[in-house]
Amino acid sequence: MAEAFAIPKRAMAVFAHPDDVDFGCSGTLAGFIERGTHVTYCVLTSGDKGTHDPKMAPEALAEIREKEQRAAGEAIGVKDFVFLRHHDGELERSMALREEVCRAIRLHRPDLVFTNDPWSHYQIHPDHRVAGWSGLDGVIAARDHLFFPEQLGDGKLAKHRVSRVLLFGSRDPNVWFDISGTLNKKINALRSHRSQLGGRSEFPKRMRAWAKSIGATWNVPAAEAFRYIELG
Ligand SMILES: [Zn+2]
Repeated sequence: MAEAFAIPKRAMAVFAHPDDVDFGCSGTLAGFIERGTHVTYCVLTSGDKGTHDPKMAPEALAEIREKEQRAAGEAIGVKDFVFLRHHDGELERSMALREEVCRAIRLHRPDLVFTNDPWSHYQIHPDHRVAGWSGLDGVIAARDHLFFPEQLGDGKLAKHRVSRVLLFGSRDPNVWFDISGTLNKKINALRSHRSQLGGRSEFPKRMRAWAKSIGATWNVPAAEAFRYIELG
């Protein structure tokens, strides 16, 4: 599939927590970036509940995780970052969040958007479900001028049509990308998330095994799989 897939000029990933993108699609993104794609990350929450350390304050953790996500993105060549800084675990599907994602899309103008598959059954984390809905709802809002027209009033932003979406974390994938050439980049990006993976020395092995098992379904050595949607 990767060979037949037109590499986008610009892409954006919309996701709930620092590290979601790195688990979900950074191998594919790294491959796109190697072939010239400009990538923006739109991070919806600060991941400020992601600790088992009773002494860690949420505000301090938010700061750490933002730095970690920036480092992880920069490790694969991501150019722009949008941090919306909502609280971890508290995302709600709302017009306010849709407006923020729509604004980010109109500002950064991706041809292709990566986000969670919101239809993924048995997705138990509420933020992952809401991230997927907000990503898709933002895509639809961004393309028509009567959605959030106040964003367009001063001429700084224009409506923008995203033509393709890749949903990660899907239970019904219909495309895959061979990431054997970028798996090391993906693992290195994940290493930036020290607050999450710091003590887990076994994680590179687990990531390799995971990529291999996805690849086996599609007969490639290592892969990431997505639900692909083309928009009219
Ligand atoms: Zn997450």
